[in-house]
Amino acid sequence: MRDPSHSLNGLTLSGAKELSLEYNVPVFDVLHMAINLRGVKSKGVSGRGRFLFKQDRREYIMAVSLGENTPFKHEEGVLRIQDDVIGTVTDIEEDTCDETYYRNNGRALTLNSNIKSDCRGCMFCGAYDSVETEKSLTTEEGLNNKIDELLKESGDEDMSFLDSIGVVTGCFPSEDDVLGHLLLVNDVFKNRGFSGTVCYVGSQITSEDCLVEMGKNNMALYLTVECFERRSNLLRLGKAELNLDDGRDVLKKARNAGLETSFLYILGLDSLVSISEQFPEYLDVISRHPIVNLMQNYQPIHETLRHPTAYSMHYFLGARNLIENVMGKTSMRPRLWENYRAPWATTYGGDILES
Ligand code: SF4
Repeated sequence: MRDPSHSLNGLTLSGAKELSLEYNVPVFDVLHMAINLRGVKSKGVSGRGRFLFKQDRREYIMAVSLGENTPFKHEEGVLRIQDDVIGTVTDIEEDTCDETYYRNNGRALTLNSNIKSDCRGCMFCGAYDSVETEKSLTTEEGLNNKIDELLKESGDEDMSFLDSIGVVTGCFPSEDDVLGHLLLVNDVFKNRGFSGTVCYVGSQITSEDCLVEMGKNNMALYLTVECFERRSNLLRLGKAELNLDDGRDVLKKARNAGLETSFLYILGLDSLVSISEQFPEYLDVISRHPIVNLMQNYQPIHETLRHPTAYSMHYFLGARNLIENVMGKTSMRPRLWENYRAPWATTYGGDILES
């Protein structure tokens, strides 16, 4: 029987230190992973929350679930694991899935232009029933109004300060609709001074013609693979229809069309065997490190979706090491600003990660 102090709910500071030695992962990274996986409890709040977690000179944005089933307590400006203080924290702000927001010190914009709360089908999705804070941005007028709003907030004259726009959004009726939307976002922002890359995060663009068009417009493709097993049970129909081989073929065609590519993966749904078998299959078709999201429970029911082995820190630390063993052979490394739910915070394969 595994030590309860290494389980997701029973983790202690001494347990985290033992795991750090066993897996050769810094204690900070073990704690950062566990906060992401379990979220925090805090008086009078529930749902999703965002706050800054600071320890020594490190400062990390946490976007997590708020609830009772966690060893972490957010209270009076500090974060505790069980009774031990592990860092300071800012107040909790509401975290919604449908916002448009900046990353990378304001150089990357995440645009949820086709409200995700209208999209249905993936069992683990956190966008259902989320609070709708803004209108769909699928028209030229809507996008220009959004840019006006962003420029008013930042005090800039145009959008030339942006390096990239991530279109992370709900599904469209067809592939042509997605492409049309990406081209519209690209054109509208370019007319307002943007000269960076539009990154499409999704799985609706699969044809060579569309990928070539994206390549001509200097776009990038982040394919939402999400999981390797039980795909027809866990994924929205259209997403599950694109099987793993077909998905890799799309990424290959995208690379041939000149696009930067990556894929999104939720860590917690598959066996470690699948992870060790499948990650190497992507090495030739991606140019950026996969976005590995630690599985979070947006709803209590999501707990039942986990792979039966994904209830202890051993699973997640083992997976982190497995992925490092595969990706460590390449120069691709996680970009921390791109993913607040990654299994990496300070190191990768023993090397310090750029913050
Ligand atoms: S495609 Fe799936 S994960 Fe994405 S918004 Fe729609 S239901 Fe949610």
